[in-house]
Amino acid sequence: MGPLSTIGMDLTPEGATHARASIKEASFKVIDLSSSPEESEIGEALAGVPRVNGVNGVDGSEDESGDANSDSGTGGDDDENEEWEIESIFEDTLGEMDDQQLFESGPEVCTYAEAVAFRRQLRDLGPEEFCKRTVEAGTITAKKLLTAFNIRPPAFLDDSPDDAYYGLLSLGISRELSKRIKIPLYNTIDDAVELIKKSRNIIVLTGAGISTSLGIPDFRSKDTGLYSKLQHLGLSDPQEVFDIHVFREDPNYFYTVARDILPSGDRFTPTHAFIHLLQQKGKLLTNYSQNIDNIEATVGILPEKLIQCHGSFATASCIECKHQVPGEKIFPDIRAGRIPRCDRCIENLRKLRAPAAMKRKRSANGQDKKRRRRDVDSDSSEEEDYDIPAVGVMKPDITFFGEPLPDRFSDRLTNHDKDKVDLVIVIGTSLKVAPVSEVVPYLPSNIPQMYISRTPVSHVNFDVDMLGDCDVVVAELCRRAGWDLQHPMIPEDQKVEVTLQEGFPSRHVFTIKE
Ligand SMILES: [Zn+2]
Repeated sequence: MGPLSTIGMDLTPEGATHARASIKEASFKVIDLSSSPEESEIGEALAGVPRVNGVNGVDGSEDESGDANSDSGTGGDDDENEEWEIESIFEDTLGEMDDQQLFESGPEVCTYAEAVAFRRQLRDLGPEEFCKRTVEAGTITAKKLLTAFNIRPPAFLDDSPDDAYYGLLSLGISRELSKRIKIPLYNTIDDAVELIKKSRNIIVLTGAGISTSLGIPDFRSKDTGLYSKLQHLGLSDPQEVFDIHVFREDPNYFYTVARDILPSGDRFTPTHAFIHLLQQKGKLLTNYSQNIDNIEATVGILPEKLIQCHGSFATASCIECKHQVPGEKIFPDIRAGRIPRCDRCIENLRKLRAPAAMKRKRSANGQDKKRRRRDVDSDSSEEEDYDIPAVGVMKPDITFFGEPLPDRFSDRLTNHDKDKVDLVIVIGTSLKVAPVSEVVPYLPSNIPQMYISRTPVSHVNFDVDMLGDCDVVVAELCRRAGWDLQHPMIPEDQKVEVTLQEGFPSRHVFTIKE
């Protein structure tokens, strides 16, 4: 991607400044500064840095800072693309440091205890006074202070003077201030169980991690995930498989991998069963899922309680005429490695064919020929001598990069859930991809939030972190709640050991006892 190489290569002072500016601008789009109580103060401390509403299309308030979108220089064609690109810049260039890594610190890195103290100091003093007492007073370098805010000093600034890190530091500071503050009251597994038992309107946010135990690949994981499987296709960026422009050009890329991610029948995980159990107990407000496998529907989550943020395989539409069919209708084609075509387009074509065929033959051009070839390849059509118009390709109603998000997402969040929610449970997602990443910062910060996943995150402060296989975690939570969560993948005599991770007051690790 363009901006990445710029950042990596241009080492002139102007280049470095430009690079920092674009990191700053880019990252500010994923931070909701408008929800921060210190808004005006940050504004002063970071004068000149454009501010953008974090929730795209969710926060309806008009804001002049919206211009930042237009000249951000990230080069995306549209919001969706841009958002995705920004996430990548953020992750790949900034080099996040997990809190855990602060424990393995060297002289140039804050210890975890120091980091916690700096974060508290920042909240207490405000950004301006905080900077005065730290970097400006010379008690610590900006380079080292960055690490307290989970930013690894980038290698391209290695031999730069310390003020070269100021831009990144202000980014780290404002990002820290935009984080929700953890509620000190909730820390233990007992707290988590009590919260689940007493809450009546639970939002459950789910990601790939809740389906991996069924062998469905994780989109984000670089090693075991789907993307590494795609590299052999020769795409410059594996995400192009889910790019609407690429799909329109050549649907083969998508359909080559679609077989692997096709929902398979009636299977679901213990975690899906747990969400269904919450629904049965009248506690489920909404399940926002990032997954496109549609397993939520399989397990029986009611359509009105389910937001599939990235769409799903449940339905499919023609990219030409928008004709929509149930998703299963195109599954046989996908499984057989064929590109599914639109029935309505074919039908319309039959009607047109007789009178119009001769005319079209004469008006052939390169584009038409290409279309015709493709059409002939995959159709049983016997009229290869005629230049017939292309029949539309069917595409599962998954939200591709470059396509708008489902309207229901922001509508449900702002007009329904925000004022009702009394507990947030995040399961199996690193919360780095919009729009799910925007849900947590958007909700009132006094609502308890808990996290269930294999790996912890540092960009969100949860009240209770429960690390491990999410199927194991939810089974143990149900056992402790006295709920009967039955699932063939949960052994009846399963014993789970929970240990508190050293140095963290509310981070618990779940493992199966042998
Ligand atoms: Zn069609």
